[in-house]
Amino acid sequence: MRQRRAVVVGAGVAGLASALALSKVGWRVAVLESRERLQKRPVLLFLWESGVKALRQLGIDARLDLGARAPDRVTIRDQAGADVGSLALAPADPESVRPVYVRQDRLFEALVAKLGPSVDLVHSTTVSRVDLVRLAAGDRTRRWDADFVVAADGTGSTIRSLLEPRSKAVDAGAVAFNAVLPPHRAPRREGDSAEIHGAHGRRFSYADLGENGAAWMAIVPGGLRPESAQIQHELLNRWFSGWPDPVAAYLGATRPEDLVQSLVRTVDPLPTGLHHKSGDGGHLLMVGDSASGTAPVFPVGATVALEDAATLGWALHQAPEDMDAAMDHYRMQRRGRLQALHRFGRRHLKLSSRKRNLITSLVRATPDAWLERYVRNLSRWELPDDMWWVDYA
Ligand SMILES: Cc1cc2nc3c(=O)[nH]c(=O)nc-3n(C[C@H](O)[C@H](O)[C@H](O)COP(=O)(O)OP(=O)(O)OC[C@H]3O[C@@H](n4cnc5c(N)ncnc54)[C@H](O)[C@@H]3O)c2cc1C
Repeated sequence: MRQRRAVVVGAGVAGLASALALSKVGWRVAVLESRERLQKRPVLLFLWESGVKALRQLGIDARLDLGARAPDRVTIRDQAGADVGSLALAPADPESVRPVYVRQDRLFEALVAKLGPSVDLVHSTTVSRVDLVRLAAGDRTRRWDADFVVAADGTGSTIRSLLEPRSKAVDAGAVAFNAVLPPHRAPRREGDSAEIHGAHGRRFSYADLGENGAAWMAIVPGGLRPESAQIQHELLNRWFSGWPDPVAAYLGATRPEDLVQSLVRTVDPLPTGLHHKSGDGGHLLMVGDSASGTAPVFPVGATVALEDAATLGWALHQAPEDMDAAMDHYRMQRRGRLQALHRFGRRHLKLSSRKRNLITSLVRATPDAWLERYVRNLSRWELPDDMWWVDYA
């Protein structure tokens, strides 16, 4: 039988992980990526338990392969520095999967290292055309015929705008700055990890990563700042002056060249159909931010992208000869979960961007045990057969 061909558009977490899942179940894959090379930006990602499980199904152990660090708890503080809540993350059972902090660049490297010879990574290729009659994707001069196109082209997805024009990338009116600090410059905080919430959606979160250094992220209202990194650093010091410890220590340990800024965007409304068919019976699927783009005020996008990819591998394993059935399996698994996370993300964004931050009031009024149960439910994700990958390991 001819090896089936998939084109994955975009080489972010969703695209690389989907390419890996496809290759595991026997597809030939071309990953088309606009950038000249993979993103090297050192951004720290928090992966929920479900993301760690999904990674494992793709053959990557977060702690052993990525040097990921599992925090014991995340504290939530108000702008005066008072603890308003705390989320215990160390499970009673030491064998349980735990959420981790992982560097995005390490995650990319590990995913790429696992891609076998059936995956071609094609850089400097911006997909601008998709043929929905005889399924293919391409740029201005080249065309890749395919049985399956996976759109993993992020929040601003070109493919989503073609298939689901009602679902738009929406600017959330905020910008995120972050930095990863090397161990010799990191303030020592004994594993401390916290989120400090202020008014108008202003927020500062940080994590001590022990021997791996430390990282922080600040969210501020407004758009991308055009100024030099030096001025951006000065602005951050001004915006967060008077904030409680250890904000000044983290900003003081940061060099302007460490700063990475990103626009906070989301997809709204959620696409009604994740899956479409072409005239010749080919299939198109949207995954990762292209399908669900949750704003990073609630850090879950990379976790969702990994869940999407593992679910794709599982669905294709369930129905190897029947793509219609495989896509039905995929939809049944993902639809409800993406809707629930999208609803939560929107609510979180609304509550946190008010003049008076309502997140802290809400967390203060909620017993920690309830908060933990709520968050645990949000990160609950299982596949009906979570050992599908063993056949291909
Ligand atoms: C500051 C910040 C902090 C975050 N923190 C967390 C966190 O702690 N935990 C978490 O789970 N998530 C976090 N997220 C969200 C997470 O990073 C994203 O949800 C996740 O990376 C989405 O991956 P993706 O592959 O779907 O999209 P992207 O990472 O956007 O990748 C899309 C890729 O497609 C390429 N592309 C786009 N258009 C085309 C085209 N037409 N042709 C070819 N290629 C194209 C792009 O160049 C890009 O490489 C954070 C996000 C930000 C901005």
